Amino acid sequence: MGVLKRYGANLPISARTPGVNLEEGSTPLVRLDRIGGDLGIELWGKLEGCNPSGSFKDRGMVLAVAKALEDGARALVCASTGNTSASAAAYAAHVGAPCYVLLPSGKVAMGKLAQALIYGAKVIAVDGNFDRALEMAREASRKLGFAMVNSVNPYRLISQKTGAWEICEELGRAPDIHAIPVGNAGNISAYWAGYKDFREWGKISGLPRMVGFQAEGAAPLATGKPCPNPETVATAIRIGNPVSAERAKSAVLESGGEFGAVSDEEILAAQAMLAAKGGVFAEPASCAALAGLIKLRGAKRLPEGSKVVMVLTGNGLKDPDAALRQTGEPIRIGSSMEELLEALAQ
Ligand SMILES: *Cc1c(COP(=O)(O)O)cnc(C)c1O
Repeated sequence: MGVLKRYGANLPISARTPGVNLEEGSTPLVRLDRIGGDLGIELWGKLEGCNPSGSFKDRGMVLAVAKALEDGARALVCASTGNTSASAAAYAAHVGAPCYVLLPSGKVAMGKLAQALIYGAKVIAVDGNFDRALEMAREASRKLGFAMVNSVNPYRLISQKTGAWEICEELGRAPDIHAIPVGNAGNISAYWAGYKDFREWGKISGLPRMVGFQAEGAAPLATGKPCPNPETVATAIRIGNPVSAERAKSAVLESGGEFGAVSDEEILAAQAMLAAKGGVFAEPASCAALAGLIKLRGAKRLPEGSKVVMVLTGNGLKDPDAALRQTGEPIRIGSSMEELLEALAQ
């Protein structure tokens, strides 16, 4: 029914806020017993790739766009590693607002670029990394009076808390461990705030440990060191200077959790495992969470039988190149039955 409808009573909206709705949120929470069995845990995947633009960004974008309209913004602007622009462009199209997106040139997955363009946003490729594109977008929003819809926009994170609320409502409690990929660190901060809301409102009693995973080539929070030149196959988390770093550190500290770093190889192996043993195709960044859980299990730091939720942040179809680089080719045959039977027997 859309995030603003389902959770409007707990979000900062008024009678003047337009009811923007692309039927985002209420995403499937899928139990992944084959993978959970391997890890000795009860594993659940929150399929955020089922959102209308294919990533969790829609959960926050819907409120950010509604508030921008309420405040009379002339246009929307964002910098993006891909999914924020896809989401902003979708909502801008839906409500009929102009949208400008700044992307780091050549570093955006094909599906996401196609989305921003086909939704009709004005797409500007910046010869610089995400962090620089973000600075430029911020300045443009100040100079031109555009609404900035990156996660520096407070409404984004407020509305992203709904992911945690949905998990608690579905499980009837909080998980023991909440695993999540970390880029700009907004989502981990939002989930933690969402769990704390639910405890404050008396709907759950315990809180999860928050474990956040970065890619080794873009791991300022996991290493505690700045990362001026982030690099990873997981383009959605290719961020060296996370905007919500302080909030995310508090989430990890308060919850008794941790940050970890996983290599591109570990991320891709987790992506293949999730698809082949779970039936879920998620983009590489999403799979940093599973890669991290596998690593914790290897280090004997994943308590047996724990109830674990991982957020599968984006749809695998956004970045088919990344998947095809690691799968084999299809078996090629002519059009005779003999060849088919031979191929099937291989
Ligand atoms: C944006 C994004 C992330 C990172 O989320 P942050 O809130 O920036 O930490 C992870 N995965 C996907 C697919 C994303 O689009």
